Amino acid sequence: MSKTDPKIKVLLIQPITIFTSAFDFKNTIVTHLLEIATNVNLRFNHNSRVSVEVINLIDENVFRPDSIGQYDKHIKSLEQFLIKFNDGSDLIFGISCFSSNYYISSLVLAKVIRNLFPSSLICVGGYQVNYFTNEFIFPRAIENRKYDKKLFDFIFLGESDKKFAEFIEDRLQSGAIHSNPDESCQIIQCGLIDNLETLPFIDYSLMKTPKSPFLFIPIYFSKGCPFSCTFCGDFRNVYKSKERWRLVSPKEAFSRLRELIRYYEDITSQVQIFDPLWAYPDWRIDFYKMLQNYEITQELWAEIRIDQFSNKEVKYLKPLNFTLAFGLESASHRMLRIMKKTQDPKKYLSRFSSFLPELDAAGIYVICNILFGHPGENDLSMMKTMNFIENLAQMAENFVPSLSKYMLIPGSDVFTNYKYYVDRYQSKFHYRHYWTIPKCSAISSSMVDPSDKISYLDVIKVFSQWAPNFYSKCIKNFNNKKGRDFIYQRYLNEMVLGPRLYWKNKILQDYNDFGEKNDVMVETEHFWNTIF
Ligand code: SF4
Repeated sequence: MSKTDPKIKVLLIQPITIFTSAFDFKNTIVTHLLEIATNVNLRFNHNSRVSVEVINLIDENVFRPDSIGQYDKHIKSLEQFLIKFNDGSDLIFGISCFSSNYYISSLVLAKVIRNLFPSSLICVGGYQVNYFTNEFIFPRAIENRKYDKKLFDFIFLGESDKKFAEFIEDRLQSGAIHSNPDESCQIIQCGLIDNLETLPFIDYSLMKTPKSPFLFIPIYFSKGCPFSCTFCGDFRNVYKSKERWRLVSPKEAFSRLRELIRYYEDITSQVQIFDPLWAYPDWRIDFYKMLQNYEITQELWAEIRIDQFSNKEVKYLKPLNFTLAFGLESASHRMLRIMKKTQDPKKYLSRFSSFLPELDAAGIYVICNILFGHPGENDLSMMKTMNFIENLAQMAENFVPSLSKYMLIPGSDVFTNYKYYVDRYQSKFHYRHYWTIPKCSAISSSMVDPSDKISYLDVIKVFSQWAPNFYSKCIKNFNNKKGRDFIYQRYLNEMVLGPRLYWKNKILQDYNDFGEKNDVMVETEHFWNTIF
């Protein structure tokens, strides 16, 4: 490698949810890409030839078409944005297809990059790539169409945090840093990272977007989850191994949190511990003890399973600024068993009812996640849940309901074993491969008739009729104009009035306007013909 060799720019890009601009959160920190970028940066610390940058396309505002009609105009602005990186450097792109929602935009992005920079290397990774690898090598949506170029040079499966940096180094050493049109797409198996403590602290400066105002600042202390909730698309399903839940020690977690807060010291956004499953009681108590001796201005948020929470945690939580989210999901014993949340629903529900007032008295805010419309649901089960959660809201002042409509997620038990739900409950999945449809995926993924007793429209009515009134009652408890009160006032207001998720009336309209299945399929065919 000589000094005159061109520079190499590694661009790690988070795509968008196409045709659903209301669905993507702006101003979020893309932690999973920052982890990869940090490893690349460290590996080439002394090599000024290589630079790395994380781009959250959602924040760049250059590619957010809301309809097919806006598509061409937005492609032009995307091209103008990308062309800025054409400064003579060799470019290596890493696209994160983190979820099914990013499938169309990942393919479109690869196509635009291939046209603008034919010799650049284009890599892709993420959950969706792990679940549907072939859809990135030979996308079904574009087979038999005129497009004949390779979209991706490399597909990364597994956890590429470290492996991507090794890959860049190998490429540099071999000099193979350009795309070879004669070579087919290659798969790189990364496996899992055994010891998370071998990962460096994240270098947040690698994301160039302004530091403020973030909605929240995410941090992770673990990867994977040993549980098997049927609606969840957690990564463990890829590896079919419950033993692959890994977490750092409380001491390491505390140092990482301090590092994060040091970087974002002026920002008051909530710090969210985003682990799918956040540790266990003794681990958390050690962590709370360390936090008690540390001054922290930000609010903290974490999600804990009801059956993994212990009352003995309350006294350690009391002096801390914590919000805890619990995935209750349903109050129907039958549904809790179907969802594989618990085998003892009675104990599960009474446990939550017993520690909720204790947490409330200790000043801990509690978010309660509820899922309506999971396969198997019927009128009675939804009614039981509504009654139960209304009672809970009477038991605690700092109580925030978070109600969601069931969405089909690739990798989940329901997705994989959908035939079981069809046979057992007569569930109907209107668009099982919804991510190739050029329409709002928040809607298409949730078009599931839970059983022969109710349709998805019956579930939507819960959100348009009962939920706004219930949210309105809960808002009244949050009176302060700052801190957590302000955050939850704003959140609940949005749920009632709906600027973000617009449940109240527009969502019904959107479902009604979605179109007949045949028309949707014709539109989908036309879309893919037009863009490829
Ligand atoms: S919902 Fe939470 S506890 Fe259940 S499998 Fe997913 S990550 Fe694990």
